[in-house]
Amino acid sequence: MTQLPAVLVTGGSRGIGAAICRLLATKGYAVAVNYASRADAAEAIVAEIKAAGGQAVAVGGDVADPAAVAAMFVAAEAALGPIGGLVNNAGLIGANAKLENQPQADIERLFAVNVYGTIYCAQEAVRRMSKAHGGAGGSIVNVSSVAARLGGLSGVVPYAATKGAVESLTKGLANEVARDGIRVNAVAPGMTATDMTTIEMREQAQKTGIPMARVGEAEEIAEAVLWLISPASSYVTGTVVTVSGGR
Ligand code: NAP
Repeated sequence: MTQLPAVLVTGGSRGIGAAICRLLATKGYAVAVNYASRADAAEAIVAEIKAAGGQAVAVGGDVADPAAVAAMFVAAEAALGPIGGLVNNAGLIGANAKLENQPQADIERLFAVNVYGTIYCAQEAVRRMSKAHGGAGGSIVNVSSVAARLGGLSGVVPYAATKGAVESLTKGLANEVARDGIRVNAVAPGMTATDMTTIEMREQAQKTGIPMARVGEAEEIAEAVLWLISPASSYVTGTVVTVSGGR
């Protein structure tokens, strides 16, 4: 049986990222569980994976800090071997305020984490995976949002703009590295029950119309990420898989 590559999941300590880590580990991937501040949550996911016979390591680091990102990849590879998959999942939603009232510092931090962080992690992944650099190829999955296409709920417009950038990056990078053996895709979740979303936000999303009339579960988003990381999607690149109950 071919050895599955190790996968680094940013923001793997909670929510959608944690569900992705659990599912990948169940399928035999060694998983590097990145976190920003919740080492306890990341270590709990690692312990759970190891208890079930899987391989995992927690790697702290702010994705908005390029030096921390580089260190995180080094630590992940030291523990698990070459990284063949990256899930750019870490993200913030920012202040819940109309655009004219959004604080500048919040907007800047939002773009630093959601956009620059995704770019810095993709850079480190490509440097390692690209056949042009002697790597074995790989798969990058960026976690976007239906907000990229719909513009987001009122109050989170800058967030929607960050996800628009993530989808442009996905398409452009996919084109750039396709011949180097790297596939780049995105998953666009709809409203999902995690710490990021309040009850009010979930109710607002339901009112604006989710054909399936419910919010999603993190485990449902993880299934699409697994498919895009895995060789089952070997002819898929530059695409966005929407997981949103029809929205
Ligand atoms: P969440 O429950 O709030 O979890 C966020 C995760 O990101 C945590 O693991 C957190 O780490 C990590 N993180 C935050 N800032 C970071 C940074 N600077 N560096 C590294 N890690 C960082 O969020 P979620 O709902 O699972 O969202 C995950 C992804 O799905 C995000 O990209 C989000 O935009 C996207 N998404 C979510 C929804 C939704 O409805 N929930 C819908 C569409 C898209 P700590 O635990 O250390 O804080």
